[in-house]
Amino acid sequence: MTKIKTNKYPVYISLAALLCCLSFSTAAQSREKPRLILQITVDQLRGDIPNRHYHQFGEGGFRYLMDSGTIFLSANHGHANTETIVGHTTLATGADPAIHGMIGNVWLDRSSGELNYNVEDSRYPILTQDAGVDKKTEIDPTQRLARSDGRSPAAILVSTFSDELKIGLAGKSKNFAVSVKDRGAISMAGHSGKAFWFSKKTRQFVSSKFYYDTYPEWVTGWNAAKPAARYADEPWQLLNDKSIYLFGDADDRPYETDLPGFGRIFPHPYGKTDGKLFGTLLTLSPAGDELTLDFAKTLITNEDIGQDEITDYLSLSFSSTDYVGHIFGPSSLESEDNILRLDQTLANLFRYIDEHIGLEKTLIVLSADHGAPEAPGYLAELGFEADYIHPESFEKEEALQRLKARFGIGEELIATFFSPYLYLARDVIEKVGLDLAQVQDAVAMEISRFDGVALAVSSTALAQGNIPDSSLYNSVKRNFNPDRSGDIYLVFSPNRFINDFDGLNVAVTHGSPWRYDTYVPIMFAGMGISHKKITRPVETVDIAPTLSLIAGVKPPSGSVGAPLMEVFNP
Ligand SMILES: [Zn+2]
Repeated sequence: MTKIKTNKYPVYISLAALLCCLSFSTAAQSREKPRLILQITVDQLRGDIPNRHYHQFGEGGFRYLMDSGTIFLSANHGHANTETIVGHTTLATGADPAIHGMIGNVWLDRSSGELNYNVEDSRYPILTQDAGVDKKTEIDPTQRLARSDGRSPAAILVSTFSDELKIGLAGKSKNFAVSVKDRGAISMAGHSGKAFWFSKKTRQFVSSKFYYDTYPEWVTGWNAAKPAARYADEPWQLLNDKSIYLFGDADDRPYETDLPGFGRIFPHPYGKTDGKLFGTLLTLSPAGDELTLDFAKTLITNEDIGQDEITDYLSLSFSSTDYVGHIFGPSSLESEDNILRLDQTLANLFRYIDEHIGLEKTLIVLSADHGAPEAPGYLAELGFEADYIHPESFEKEEALQRLKARFGIGEELIATFFSPYLYLARDVIEKVGLDLAQVQDAVAMEISRFDGVALAVSSTALAQGNIPDSSLYNSVKRNFNPDRSGDIYLVFSPNRFINDFDGLNVAVTHGSPWRYDTYVPIMFAGMGISHKKITRPVETVDIAPTLSLIAGVKPPSGSVGAPLMEVFNP
C-alpha cells in the first residue's frame, strides 16, 4: 500500500480512518449500558483447557461464552511472576505489577525484615471470630506467612476498574467480589467495593473490618445455614462414566499429591465436618466453586444487583481449578472432572442471572490469573526428561561460597529466597562496604549458571534499563517495583519449578514467564457482543480499559492496556 502515490490516497485514508473511528465510537457509546458487569476469573485456567474440553461441555456454561461471545485465542499475561495476586490485580487494574505493586503473593518488607502476605492488613481484622488462617492445616505456604487475620486492598497502588465504576457513577454502582481465596476477592473489589472470601477454618464466607462494621443480615443467614456441611460424609465422585474422559485411564498417578483421607483416586471423600482437613478438602475439589456460586446467588438477590439503570459490578473468582491443578496436575482425571463441574457451575450461574437480571443486560468477561505447567511426572511418562527444582542444592553451591570469599563476607550473603525473588543481606553488604549493584550482578551471574536456572536478573540492571530487549527480560521488567522487588529475579528453565509447599510436595507450581503459565482465555459475551474468534495477540492488561469504555468511565489510573476493539465491532 505504501507504493501507491496518487493524490487521492491521503484523502481515502483519512476518510477511511474517520469512518472507522465513527463506527467504533458509535458502537461503544450508543450501546445501552449493562445492568451488570460480571467479571469471572478462573484461577489457573490455562488458555487451551476450555478448547480441549469443549466437546464435553453441556449447554449454557462455557458454551454460552464460547458459542456466542468474542473469544481471544492468543491472550497472555505480560508479566513474569504468574501468581494469583499478581494476575488478579492485573486483570482488575489493567496495569503491570511494576505499577500496581502486587509483584508476588509474598514480598520482603525491607524495613521490618519480614515477609509480607499481599493483602494482609492488621488494622482490619476478619469480622468472624477465629476465622483466620489455620497454620496447622493451611496448605498454601503464602497464606501461612500472614501474621494477623486482617485483610484489605491497601497494598494495591492504583485504582481498579470497579473503583472507576464507583467514581464515575457518583458512588451509586454496587461493587462486590467473591472468591474462596482472600486475594482473589480483595484484588477485584478494589479500594471501594466489598469483598468476601472463604474461611477454611469455619467454612463460612467472611469479610474484614475494612469493608463492614457488621455483616449484612443475608451473610449471617447464609453462614448460619452451614451450606458446607452438606458435603460431610460425601465424596467427590466422577460426573460421568470414566470412558468419556480424556484421562479416564490415568486416575492413579504417582506424582499426584496423596492427601490423608482424600487420596489419589476417585471417589475422594470429604470426611466428617470435624475432620481436620474438611474445610481444606472442600477447596481442593469442585465443592469450593459450588459454595462460591451459592453465596454469589444469595448476594445477587439480597443486594439487588443489576436491578436498575446504574451498572453494577460483580467479580467471581473460582479457585478450585487452581487447587485441583496444584494437587493433581492440569492434565489429570481430577482436573478434567473439575472443569466439567465448573462448566455446570457456570451454567447454573448464567441461568440465575438470566432469570434475575437478564443475560442480554449483563456483560460477562472471563479470564484467568495465570495458566499452569504440566507435572514433570506426566511429561516423563510421555518421554520427556523432566524433574522438579530442588532449592536445597542451591544453598550448597560452591560458587556462592567462592563469591562470599571473594567479597570478604563471612556471614550469610542471601537474606532470603521467596520465589521468584532472591533478597541479599543488604546490611551485611553495607557493613563490609561493598557496592550493592556489583554484588547483585556477581550473584546473578553465578546463579544463572546453576542447573535449572534460565535467567537471573539483578534489580539494578532492571532499574537502569540495562537489559536485553527480549520478551523474557521485558516480562521481568514489567514485574519490577523498586520498593518491593528483591535483588535478583530468578527464572527457572521451562518445565522446571519448585513443588515444595513447605514440606508438602504438590504436582505442579505456576509462577514462571513461560507460555504455559502466561497463556489464558479472554472471553466477552452479552450486551450484543457478536460471536468472533480472534487470534491477534492481546494481553490481560487490555481487559480493564475495555470494561471502562463499555461502562463509559475512565480507565484505571495505572492501566497500560488498550481497549479490545473486536468487542465493540459488530
Ligand atoms: Zn496457584
